[in-house]
Amino acid sequence: VIDIGQPEHSVVTTCAYCGVGCSFKAEMRGTEVVRMVPYKDGHANHGHSCVKGRFAWGYATHRERILKPMVREKISDPWREVSWAEAIGRVVSEFRRIQAQHGRGAIGGITSSRCTNEETFLIQKLVRAGFGNNNVDTCARVCHSPTGYGLKTTFGTSAGTQDFDSVEHCDVMVVIGANPTDGHPVFASRMKKRLREGAKLIVIDPRRIDMVRMPHVQASHHLPLRPGTNVAVLTALAHVIVTEGLVDEAFVRERCEPDDFAAWAAFVAEERNSPEAVAKISGVPAELIRGAARLYATGGNAAIYYGLGVTEHSQGTTAVMAIANLAMATGNIGRPGVGVNPLRGQNNVQGSCDMGSFPHEYSGYRHVSDDATRAVFETMWGVTLDHEPGLRIPNMLDAAVDGSFKGLYIQGEDIVQSDPDTQHVVAGFKAMECVVVQDLFLNETANFAHVFLPGSSFLEKDGTFTNAERRINRVRKVMPPRNGLADWEITVAIAHAMGVAGMDYTHPSQIMDEIARTTPTFTGVSYDKLDAVGSVQWPCNEAAPQGTPVMHAGGFVRGRGRFIITEYVPTDERTGPRFPLLLTSGRILSQYNVGAQTRRTANVMWHDQDLLEIHPHDAEQRGVRDGDWVRLASRVGATTLRAKVTDRVAPGVVYTTFHHPLTQTNVVTTQYSDWATDCPEYKVTAVQVTPSNGP
Ligand code: SF4
Repeated sequence: VIDIGQPEHSVVTTCAYCGVGCSFKAEMRGTEVVRMVPYKDGHANHGHSCVKGRFAWGYATHRERILKPMVREKISDPWREVSWAEAIGRVVSEFRRIQAQHGRGAIGGITSSRCTNEETFLIQKLVRAGFGNNNVDTCARVCHSPTGYGLKTTFGTSAGTQDFDSVEHCDVMVVIGANPTDGHPVFASRMKKRLREGAKLIVIDPRRIDMVRMPHVQASHHLPLRPGTNVAVLTALAHVIVTEGLVDEAFVRERCEPDDFAAWAAFVAEERNSPEAVAKISGVPAELIRGAARLYATGGNAAIYYGLGVTEHSQGTTAVMAIANLAMATGNIGRPGVGVNPLRGQNNVQGSCDMGSFPHEYSGYRHVSDDATRAVFETMWGVTLDHEPGLRIPNMLDAAVDGSFKGLYIQGEDIVQSDPDTQHVVAGFKAMECVVVQDLFLNETANFAHVFLPGSSFLEKDGTFTNAERRINRVRKVMPPRNGLADWEITVAIAHAMGVAGMDYTHPSQIMDEIARTTPTFTGVSYDKLDAVGSVQWPCNEAAPQGTPVMHAGGFVRGRGRFIITEYVPTDERTGPRFPLLLTSGRILSQYNVGAQTRRTANVMWHDQDLLEIHPHDAEQRGVRDGDWVRLASRVGATTLRAKVTDRVAPGVVYTTFHHPLTQTNVVTTQYSDWATDCPEYKVTAVQVTPSNGP
């Protein structure tokens, strides 16, 4: 970070990294950022920040930013800089050609959780109204899509139930499949404060995350389960609650579907779901499971916080439902201090899902087959809309390999580095005839692109992000787009060239007005309101004009809460003599996801490579010492990285991050995915680790 002097003015905006959604004052000198100061009136962060939001914004002016549109005939050709008009013309003529030759469904669009709500809404509008199909998806596919499906099924809406302030009323926290001190540091500080005040902590995670043992705070229970056994352990917790008479009978009677509860209670009470039986599957001692269940059910206000260690499994959706079952059975829903709290990874995962970027849903989680919903958009957009769900990201790649999917517009997502089974992903991209990448940098996916449209950073755009507590925060432009066009303007230019009507916006506030007119949970949202009150949490409408901090207070969105039977089904990914270890993965504080931004800031000094954590026992067996190069191989691929010998992981389990393109961790992850949503099973891969001489 270069000190360029004293600021002249400041602009309040929102961090573009994680789902906490911290507000910052960008202190400016002309159009240059002097520093980012955590905003004391920010409702999500109250003046706090982490190292990413505070310091890792320099990528916006990094020398590797691409600022001119580029095209090429074949992916082996060099890029050629062209005008915006030529680039947009190329996109549209190629997409039209492909549709004429291969059918309307041969193209699609992918948006990112890094995009604003307005950008995401426009992408799905372009696909539905311009491409004439529902082939639109978001990178939430590969992280929290099971949250969407699971919570909609059980509670009636696809969102976390609480605001962050709720943690101040919490007596028992369950953290499962999340590592808040690295992934959601500012909210983790609030959790730690509450723990120091006396709240109890249960951690369910294969790895001994920092929260298990912190200065002044320790988890009372750490359940170090074998990767892939979340559903078994969560159901065993329910077994204890049901068989020991710890159910909140009044809550269940008044708020939940009685028949579903009865069937669920009988199921969880079966002996095969007992802690003793599940101990053999999960490796967690039965007494630990019993103790955790008793504490959760009887310790006062109990809240569950979870992350991708829950969702990124073949039973990700089942695990989300199992969490919802626990909250309903114990009456821990609908008031401060309790609830089901998905810790969203990226800044706008929640908003990306809210805005209709799934192939089966319009904004506000309304199915594309619903005639009344389609009629709203058909009237607004002046087109006839497809009533069949479109292709999800993995379906698009499969269809590309099969030859029926030929063109893709990707905004802000590096699929080649972030999606599992890299070899299959690459095969899909190589088979396409027109790949359009809109991004800040020539990322790994751009290696397979025919058109590159330079995107703009969060500092160059107006819009909104919605954080993990459903809070809609304003993103404000502090400098003009260095590439000449904001991202939303690029989508509008493509839409205009394709003849899509109703795209005559002059400012993103008008896009939000359209979202409000078409989405029942957003009817009370406008830029004027956000500027006046700072932020609001949806639903924000006639029934809740000031927004909704805690959901399901008087009743569930779907009416009565629905218990779902959560049968444990082991993943098809199995260990064996060739691949005896289980790999799981996560993030580190200073880096972010595939690192496209943080690697282009000084943060890279704190974590310049991905490391493989391996238990001393497993390391010794393989002749591996701390710092050695090792080869990490699975049934689908192999990579090389350095070993970190540590007892943070149990014997039989290894762990790494996925921030660096040289490691390409996802060359080893498999194509197994969640049964309901196709969310990839990143968290369980059978691997072997052997000594190596380096890459
Ligand atoms: Fe940004 Fe998340 Fe850090 Fe807040 S906690 S500054 S939103 S990365």
